[in-house]
Amino acid sequence: MQTPQLAGKIALITGSTSGIGLGMARALAAEGATIIFNGFGDPTEIAELQRATGIEFGVRTGYSNADMTKPAEIEKMMNDAIDQFGGVDILVNNAGIQHVANVEDFPPERWDAVIAINLTSAFHTTRLALPAMKRKNWGRIINIASAHGLVGSAGKSAYVASKHGIVGLTKVTALENVQTGITCNAICPGWVLTPLVQKQVDARAAANHVSIDQAKRELLLEKQPSGEFVTPEQLGALAVFLCSAAASQVRGAAWNMDGGWVAQ
Ligand code: NAD
Repeated sequence: MQTPQLAGKIALITGSTSGIGLGMARALAAEGATIIFNGFGDPTEIAELQRATGIEFGVRTGYSNADMTKPAEIEKMMNDAIDQFGGVDILVNNAGIQHVANVEDFPPERWDAVIAINLTSAFHTTRLALPAMKRKNWGRIINIASAHGLVGSAGKSAYVASKHGIVGLTKVTALENVQTGITCNAICPGWVLTPLVQKQVDARAAANHVSIDQAKRELLLEKQPSGEFVTPEQLGALAVFLCSAAASQVRGAAWNMDGGWVAQ
């Protein structure tokens, strides 16, 4: 049997107890990577997720409950990864939240939270992961941005600012390491039906007095001309490609997978 392509690699995925992050974790585990989960949730369910993932893919797993709004907790998570697993080879900055309101109505504390989780946490994890990656001269940093890292939408000032910001951080990180074995790229998904988007579907159904299915159709057709959701599995497959040797010259890209959203 062929050795899985990411055997021996340690992957830390922020916000991987749900949605896209979980899809990333499963795709990287399927290629043999050790997985360090992070994110919120019921401790028993998270322990079971770790156990089940380990058994399904025959990989080691770990977990950090670090809150991505808290730099001290991020630092502890990264230090624990070094102590327990020898460092992080694949860093997926995925944790993210949304808040929808026009600028003048946007609660300042929600602005701060969105920027902290979606953008600043990636600065901290990246700065703390790079020294060990440099020692090994190998690393993959994958930032989960969004179609909103490339174009805007009304009502999403903090989210769009954070996602444009992370595309900028991606380019600079890529360039600072451009002659090393460390690459940094962003993935820019369109709509993916995760808990983050389900909340927006529910809000739309309530506001427009339509069914959940109708709200999903409207949400998609407004932005995503394919009329279909992107899936966590498809995004996971792109992350696996970005970790491969074939992608070693993909550097500083903001790669959209969005059913045609930003092609319009
Ligand atoms: P989700 O709500 O399903 O998952 C978010 C994850 O982040 C969860 O594991 C949650 O526990 C974790 N998290 C939230 N706050 C945290 C904190 N303070 N500290 C640590 N972990 C925290 O969301 P999702 O849709 O899977 O989104 C994942 C990423 O993908 C986000 O960055 C989001 O902006 C991005 N994205 C999502 C879509 C979409 O359509 N769902 C589209 C483009 C980009």
